[in-house]
Amino acid sequence: MELTPSEVWSKVLLLAKERMPEQSFRTWLAGSEAVGLSGNTLLVEAPSNFHVEWIEDKYGEDLTEIASRVAGRPVALDFQSTTTTDAPPLPEVELSGPSSGRSTLTGQATDEPGETAERPRPKHGSLHDRYTFDRFVVGNNNQLAAAASRAVAENPGRTYNPLFLYGGVGLGKTHLMHAVGHEILNRSSRPKVAYITTEEFMNELVRSIQQATTREFRQRFRQIDLLLVDDIHFLERKDSTQEEFFHTFNALYDAGKQIVLTSDRPPKELPGVEDRLVSRFEWGLVADIKAPDYETRVAILHKKAADDDLTLDDDVMDFIARSCTASVRELEGAVIKLLAYSSLRKEEISVDLARTALRGVIRETGGSEPARLTAQTIRDRTAAEWGVKSEGLASKRRTRDLTEPRQVAMYLIKELLDESLVRIGGTFGGRDHSTVIHSIRKVEERMDADEAFARRVLRLKDELDR
Ligand code: ADP
Ligand code: MG
Repeated sequence: MELTPSEVWSKVLLLAKERMPEQSFRTWLAGSEAVGLSGNTLLVEAPSNFHVEWIEDKYGEDLTEIASRVAGRPVALDFQSTTTTDAPPLPEVELSGPSSGRSTLTGQATDEPGETAERPRPKHGSLHDRYTFDRFVVGNNNQLAAAASRAVAENPGRTYNPLFLYGGVGLGKTHLMHAVGHEILNRSSRPKVAYITTEEFMNELVRSIQQATTREFRQRFRQIDLLLVDDIHFLERKDSTQEEFFHTFNALYDAGKQIVLTSDRPPKELPGVEDRLVSRFEWGLVADIKAPDYETRVAILHKKAADDDLTLDDDVMDFIARSCTASVRELEGAVIKLLAYSSLRKEEISVDLARTALRGVIRETGGSEPARLTAQTIRDRTAAEWGVKSEGLASKRRTRDLTEPRQVAMYLIKELLDESLVRIGGTFGGRDHSTVIHSIRKVEERMDADEAFARRVLRLKDELDR
């Protein structure tokens, strides 16, 4: 006998409930209902557009698979929102209080408690204290972006608004953006500066929806003097987030507040971002950052050496600058690797040592392209190193033998692949981004405190990085 749509859906929900955290289930799925069947497609209603997007994004595949099993034949799912609003109150959701992963409002006027039990905060809240203008080397590759950032810092809200910086990974976008923040904090009395990644923005929005605090969410963002939003390309295809962002943007812009955005591509190439947002992004100045040329790479190495009190001979710098061409991050990685190598081997830094240390980093001509490193490989290798099963790292179990390698694997993926926190969470059984942040911090703290642990992690990183 054929089951009715609501019977199928109730069974799906029962099975789904076993597979996911209670809180997520209650937040996202408990309010959904099957309303009909059209051919092989089960129509399911959820309380808001946001729910629909979230469910499709996170659970769509799993739910389709479960539904097909329950129905005994392939079934597709079509989610629809019962309301047109994006922000329904969800009274059944537990209020978990301010959790980690929030953006930080920085400056004297802030009343944000921030996270407790963390390493000491840098002077300017969530801004990286090394990402200042005086540590930024200006070269042909970033001249316009650097000049525009300075202009914005000197005259916020008036020169280029928004300032849109774009370029590939590791080229200095975040650095410049933070530099603007530092400068404005240094110049004005009581400015409110907010630095937030697009992921965090989305997560905060979701949380405010869960907790029915969207008004506070809006107010908090709209009273900011300088809004720094990093990696806006993650805004892709998240309609409700775009909607909210659009309103935040307009409110700040109209009030003459400065906005700085970064992205891995220019506004027009952002897929899935609405035209009206793209055109907003182009209102001010769009500046790109390219990979540094040889002279700039050498200049950056000189600067790093001076800032960090390192002695690197010119021929070593020349060797590194010739070997690492892709990004500044790669350049910095090479220096760190070389230093580690020299201290482990107790050998003086020389071109020969650099050649050995950087084997794998440098693309030596004639060699075949090495297999691309993936998150999965890193997870597998980390599990192997800790003597546990790789699947264990993706499981929900929180025993110490699993927690440690899990955190290390997350850290290494971030370091080596620069993947988004959401994607990293995905590699570990769909953990949310705040868990990932927490894990990465834990590893960093422990590496600072425990030399053997640090060495173990760095060795593994080295091996993976070959
Ligand atoms: P992105 O955000 O573009 O991926 P980051 O801003 O995180 O890149 O930069 C990667 C690293 O390179 C950071 O440690 C940053 O300080 C450094 N860096 C990038 N560009 C420069 C530069 N022009 N001068 C000095 N350091 C730089
Ligand atoms: Mg960045």
